[in-house]
Parts: sequence; structure tokens; C-alpha cells
Amino acid sequence: MRAETLARPIPEDAPRTAAAWVARIRRKVADAGRTVRLMEFCGTHTVAIARSGLRGLLRGAVELVSGPGCPVCVTAGGEIDRMLAYCDVPRAIVATYGDLLRVPGSRTSLAGRRAEGADVRVVYSALDALQLAREAPDRPVIFLGVGFETTAPAAALAVKAASEEGVGNFCLHSAHKQTPAAMRALLRDGGRPGEALTLDGIICPGHVSTVLGAEGFAFLPAEFGIPGAVAGFEPLDILLAVDCLVDAALGRRPVALWNGYRRWVRPEGNRRAQALLSEVFCTCDARWRGLGLLPESGLRLKPEFARFDAEVRFPADVAEPPARSGCRCGDVLRGALAPADCPLFGAACRPERPMGPCMVSSEGACAAWYRYGTAEEEQP
Ligand code: SF4
Repeated sequence: MRAETLARPIPEDAPRTAAAWVARIRRKVADAGRTVRLMEFCGTHTVAIARSGLRGLLRGAVELVSGPGCPVCVTAGGEIDRMLAYCDVPRAIVATYGDLLRVPGSRTSLAGRRAEGADVRVVYSALDALQLAREAPDRPVIFLGVGFETTAPAAALAVKAASEEGVGNFCLHSAHKQTPAAMRALLRDGGRPGEALTLDGIICPGHVSTVLGAEGFAFLPAEFGIPGAVAGFEPLDILLAVDCLVDAALGRRPVALWNGYRRWVRPEGNRRAQALLSEVFCTCDARWRGLGLLPESGLRLKPEFARFDAEVRFPADVAEPPARSGCRCGDVLRGALAPADCPLFGAACRPERPMGPCMVSSEGACAAWYRYGTAEEEQP
């Protein structure tokens, strides 16, 4: 199914300001006599919605629920413990994105291990980690790869370059995940058998869509009969997506998938990035925080790249730990709990002393709610 694109990014009769957009959406919903519930699947959307106060402005008409769109947050506790175990590999340099540093594992975090003397370094991409490996050929450099279809191509590129250049001391721990698998799991049973999740539409992730293409989410109307809208990250982008989804939810237009981010997202996506992913990775079952083990939802290195696979080279027997006492990150990531309804929110759990990953990552729903709490409370 091809993604239906908006004939014009901004409809002819579109309001000129965000406030007028909000009023138009609220009016439609009020006329219908029911509310609309939408989920965003992207941490950057979560932050944009919180920062602009859209959730508060639409409250009572449209409920905006955050899903599992923060890459650091969805990384399961056992995976974090496995990453921490790499700090014990003799002379290892553990290279990580900054967001992972303070995510608590069972006993400590990467920041904690660094304070204890482990060589943990923050990098901006897998290619930076590869450069570290080139500069320190006598030391293993282990890159902790997290993220969705957006960060995985750079990790694939680094592995391919290491293979071609013979940089044998570089390896990747791939905790990369595939967004559509989590969407399917949530739409099937709320991510937890027996717990249905009621949604009227999905705001599809803009960055992931640049790689997968808008058509990567065509399964939403086709398989689940639910509308989807690929959105950019400006408040007006999000309001345009909300407007489309509200129309579909209220029967004012057919259920379909819209691409409202055509300035970056092509229907077919980025074919080169997709080819790179297929060349280096194969799909695997992966554990998501809050959603459990989801079939074919992860990416691991193909056997021909096993010598660059950190899990093969430095195996560690790590079990999935129980959730931290009181932490409700799993429920937040499934859209089953609003961050502020976690009993620890803003009290025992704050950005400077996080109890769970959703308060650590800048893209985490709890961190966004905490940081922009005032805007969240604004009403029209
Ligand atoms: S407030 Fe803290 S403990 Fe509660 S769900 Fe959010 S991150 Fe987890």
C-alpha cells in the first residue's frame, strides 16, 4: 500500500497560527462529542510536544500519549547489565552515546563504572568509536549501539569499514531495534497480553521514516485499520498530523497513512541506508523495556561479521533483572501510565537523581514532562 500524501502540506483553509490550529481541532472534536487518543512513537516528538505545550493545549479533546520512542529508555535492564560487563574486559575502551551513561543497571551505571576507573568514553556516532579503534590498535574498542532505524545505518557503516580496513579491535554491541515490530505489539495487545491499548491513530516517527519511508508504516491502516501520520518536529508539523488523525478518527476522512513530512521523507525511504542495514544486520528477537521479548524486533550482526560482534567476542551470562522497586518506566513506555502518575515522579525520581531511564534520557517521557511541566499544565 502506498502512503497517501497530503495534496498540499498545509491545506488551503488551514489556520495561520498554532493557536488557530488548536481551536480548529478542538472544535471538530467537540462537535463529534467524543475525545481522540493518539500515540507518538518518537522521543523527539515527545520532547517537541512537551516543549510546545501541545499536550496541555489539546487536553480534554485530544489525548497525546507517549509510546516506546526513546531508544535509551526501551533498552532492557539485562541489556544495560551486559553493557556494564564490557567494562571488565581487560584494557577495553567502552564507547557510548552520552544518553546511556547514567541509565541505571542492577548495581551501577556506565557513569558509575567510569568513576571506578573503567575507560568509558562518550562518542557522537559509531564512526567516532571506529576512529578510537584505529588510534588504539592494541585495545578492544566496544561500541554500544542503541537506537532505531535511524542510528543503525551508521553502526552498519562502521562495521563494514572495520571489516574492509581490517580494524580487528573494533566491535559492536547491537541493541538496535525496529520500530514497526513494537508498534505491532502495542496495537495487538498493548504490549502485554490481555491489556488492550485503545488508540485512534499514530503519529509516526519522522526520523525513522527518512530511512524506512512513509510506506514503512502503511501496515497501520492495512493491518490494524488505524490511521497514521508521518510528522516533522515543529509544532505546526505535529498539529497537521493531529488534524489528519482526528479527521480519520471522527470519520471525516478515510483511514489511511499520510506523509506530512515530505520535505525529508520519501515514500520509499532511503534505499542506500536500507541496503546497508540488510548487508550487515539480520533481524532477531529483542527484549524491550516494558514490552518484553518481541519477535524479530531487533538487529544483530550477520554471521559473516561475527568477529565484530561484542556479544560473540566477549560473552557474558547476564539474566534479565527484576524492575527496580517502584519504577514504572515499563508502563510509561507502553502508554499505560502518564509519567506524572508514577509515584516516584518528581520526588524520589528527578533528572539529577533518576530512578529509571525515562528520567535519564533527554528524549525520555518522564524527563520531558519534568522539564516542561509548566507548559504541560497550560490550558487554552
Ligand atoms: S518517574 Fe522515574 S521511576 Fe517513575 S517511570 Fe519515570 S523514570 Fe521510571
